[in-house]
Amino acid sequence: MDFAKRISHLRAEGAYAVLARAQALEAQGREIIHLEIGQPDFATYPHVAMAGVKAIAMGQTRYNPPAGLPALREALAEDAGRRRGIEFRAGQVVIAPGTKPLLLLPMMAVLEPGDEVIYPDPGFPSYEAAIGLAGGVPVPVPLLEEQGYDLDLEALEGSLSPRTRMILLNSPGNPTGGIHSRQTLARVAELARRRDAWVLSDEIYARLVYEGEAPSIAQMPGMAERTIIADGFSKTYAMTGWRLGFAIMPEPLAEKMNLLLTHSVGCTATFTQMAGLEAVRGPQDAVDAVVAEFRRRRDLIVAGLNAIPGVRCPMPMGAFYAFPNIRSFGRSSSELAETLLDKAGVAVLPGSAFGRNGEGYLRLTYANSTENIEKAVAKMAAALAAL
Ligand code: PLP
Repeated sequence: MDFAKRISHLRAEGAYAVLARAQALEAQGREIIHLEIGQPDFATYPHVAMAGVKAIAMGQTRYNPPAGLPALREALAEDAGRRRGIEFRAGQVVIAPGTKPLLLLPMMAVLEPGDEVIYPDPGFPSYEAAIGLAGGVPVPVPLLEEQGYDLDLEALEGSLSPRTRMILLNSPGNPTGGIHSRQTLARVAELARRRDAWVLSDEIYARLVYEGEAPSIAQMPGMAERTIIADGFSKTYAMTGWRLGFAIMPEPLAEKMNLLLTHSVGCTATFTQMAGLEAVRGPQDAVDAVVAEFRRRRDLIVAGLNAIPGVRCPMPMGAFYAFPNIRSFGRSSSELAETLLDKAGVAVLPGSAFGRNGEGYLRLTYANSTENIEKAVAKMAAALAAL
């Protein structure tokens, strides 16, 4: 069967492939510890889930405006603005079924065929996929382990060209847990302004920060008119399956997004948005407790990994991933991930699933119980010692 060229670059996400292999082993009776899939290991907060259930019971199950319910757009403009110290209007906020469409659709709105998009490598696999789907040319820029996985600014400057139309950032980052410093963002902002480029800033992990702060590039002078902030409910509120994301951008672009949403997804489920409204407006102590718990787990997994001879793991500052360097074992990251699954029963992702610069690393999520983390680290240490 023939398919269009524009989808020929699409590959399965590494996490789903490893999950399928892990589940096949479980079906044979093996015990597997899952450190591959990046989602909170607890249920959606009860008050949030109940708001969704109540909305369904009240019949809020019909079409609604493509860019989202006005009340939620209003609440998000206020909440996201207050957290970043920026004033946003509701007209700048658009809602979608997850953050993923809010990576692809803005690119479709601004890229001409052949326009270049700079993006982090290692980075979330959907970035490269979305750039290609929107007709753009992906230009990877490395993140530096020795700088806590901050952007390699020299490489970024060297990658700019007259075709650069967008710079994509992700801080705190998947898969590294790195955070871009204010200095880095100031420099990226300067380069974006000079090149008249858009910045798409994926801030989905903005609330999961363990050290200091995670500044937004939208705070930099002159960036309001060229920044698209993508954010969502999946990670902060443990709502991965509800599908709810939002993005904040200049109003003229938001109006175009309204059209793109109209003709692609139509709208986002009303009851999902009602749950989201409760998540934003309701008590935040559950989020604070989860951040404190993730911090404990991060400390545990990083200490455990660094105690394994041959493994070097920088301290992640945000999100819920550890990204240890495993080069000393002299095997590819996918070989090592397979060995760990087969021999230790621990499912992790090869760094190469996140781009060329991810080779030599593994990604482990610590969105798992302390008991499982301790067990996984001990099993990994034994399997690696036996290599
Ligand atoms: N951006 C990053 C960096 C992610 O890690 C993820 C999910 O893993 C997403 C976006 C997509 O999130 P959503 O579930 O809101 O579509």
